[in-house]
Amino acid sequence: MNSGHEIDQRRARRLNLRQDQKGPVIYWMSRDQRFQHNWALLFACHKARLLQQPLEVVFTLAPSFLGAPLRHYDFMFKGLAEVERSLREAGIPMTVLFGEPGVTLPAYAEERRAGLVVSDFSPLTLVRQWKRNASASLSCAIYEVDAHNIVPCWLASPKQEYAARTIRPRLDALHRSFCTSFPQPEASCQPDSLNFCQPVKWDDLLDMLDIDRSVMPVSGITPGTAAAEKRLRLFLDKVLDRYADKRNDPNAEAVSGLSPYLHFGQLSAQHAAYEAARCEASRENREAFIEELFIRRELAENYCLYNDKYDTFDAIPEWAKATLMEHAADQRDYLYTPEELEAAKTHDPLWNAAQLSLLESGMMHGYMRMYWAKKILEWSPSPAAAFETALWLNDRYALDGRDPNGYAGVAWSIGGLHDRPWSERPVYGKIRYMNASGCARKFDVNRYIATMTSAQQPTFF
Ligand SMILES: Cc1cc2nc3c(=O)[nH]c(=O)nc-3n(C[C@H](O)[C@H](O)[C@H](O)COP(=O)(O)OP(=O)(O)OC[C@H]3O[C@@H](n4cnc5c(N)ncnc54)[C@H](O)[C@@H]3O)c2cc1C
Repeated sequence: MNSGHEIDQRRARRLNLRQDQKGPVIYWMSRDQRFQHNWALLFACHKARLLQQPLEVVFTLAPSFLGAPLRHYDFMFKGLAEVERSLREAGIPMTVLFGEPGVTLPAYAEERRAGLVVSDFSPLTLVRQWKRNASASLSCAIYEVDAHNIVPCWLASPKQEYAARTIRPRLDALHRSFCTSFPQPEASCQPDSLNFCQPVKWDDLLDMLDIDRSVMPVSGITPGTAAAEKRLRLFLDKVLDRYADKRNDPNAEAVSGLSPYLHFGQLSAQHAAYEAARCEASRENREAFIEELFIRRELAENYCLYNDKYDTFDAIPEWAKATLMEHAADQRDYLYTPEELEAAKTHDPLWNAAQLSLLESGMMHGYMRMYWAKKILEWSPSPAAAFETALWLNDRYALDGRDPNGYAGVAWSIGGLHDRPWSERPVYGKIRYMNASGCARKFDVNRYIATMTSAQQPTFF
């Protein structure tokens, strides 16, 4: 078993056929925005030591990213400022390049006469396109290291998996060798490397972006790795023991609230799983949490890696498409425009409360997310329109939006992804149904509505 002090070479793969050369090693940080517990940074440190070369970190900032508004950039930049401080303390400079990443990164590598580039992994199409462009123009080697998943996504499975039950045995078989502790990142050849690079002016960069500034930052969750670590500890010590029983009760404050940190890579899922497996909570609770954090999350990554239509209605399974199309013309009791939904102006106070929580706090409890998306299916003119509206709202307001989990979550709720056919009913066809009375059987709906419509929404615990 890997002790965690070596890097399992199966985590890395080459993206072009160039050789490692003499010259600085560049870690192109993208999705895994943290100093600690980051296999891509560790791999870059390892290469720099091996080749006796200095290491630097580059973050490429596109003028906009899949419609992300100010709320998301604010969270990300505050986290990145913390990463920059940690890197500086370790003698590693960080540079931000502004512009089209597939172009700015190779140009910078050329200018620095880089010996090799290390990137982290994302299954999202746009990021993969940047990488393809960069790999083709670089004159040095480029590697990709999966620092986001416990089991590297391409190793977990070579194809799109049907469901949790089909990916679970594969992930379980590899879990022991990959879910290790982490060594400390260390760069050993850093002669005056901080001299050529000024501290990043994060506020100036924020001003340069071409983004929607009407979706404001949220105050209920502190960005960055230190805050993520604190939240993880609090969750493991005080909350996890009610997770298995209460995680579907949005009033119970029984979930971790870690998804924004995981999404921006401010927290490592592997580190969280490693700590969870060793904490004092009961086995049942530890296992229930690891099922979500590991199996369900990595199933969503698998979906996006192998289904390049992942953010469209076209991606859903054939049986689901067929049943939804059969019911596309069914009478809808209510029809709302995307704007009415956005404004939380429906006849259903429970749905409105969930939408308000998304607008105000950038979060929505996982159980409510399913109800929320299924009602969008029920109240939209077509299943394809529902898919589009749900993703638009999720990605515009949820701090953890634009994530494989979100694409899979919407496709599960509206399109039966990773699910099976259920008994047939209007509009839904054979897609699994949810309604307000089902919610009322599970939790105190009035209490949830009162909390989410009060001025002071909870921040999960
Ligand atoms: C319509 C819909 C939209 C969603 N959109 C997103 C999204 O944009 N971003 C996002 O990260 N998750 C999304 N999810 C999945 C899930 O609801 C959230 O991950 C979870 O609510 C986050 O809260 P938490 O961190 O407190 O979860 P916890 O219950 O504490 O779980 C811990 C971690 O496990 C993972 N996880 C939990 N549930 C799931 C799941 N069903 N599928 C995959 N991974 C899971 C997440 O990384 C989560 O942070 C969506 C689900 C649905 C049904």
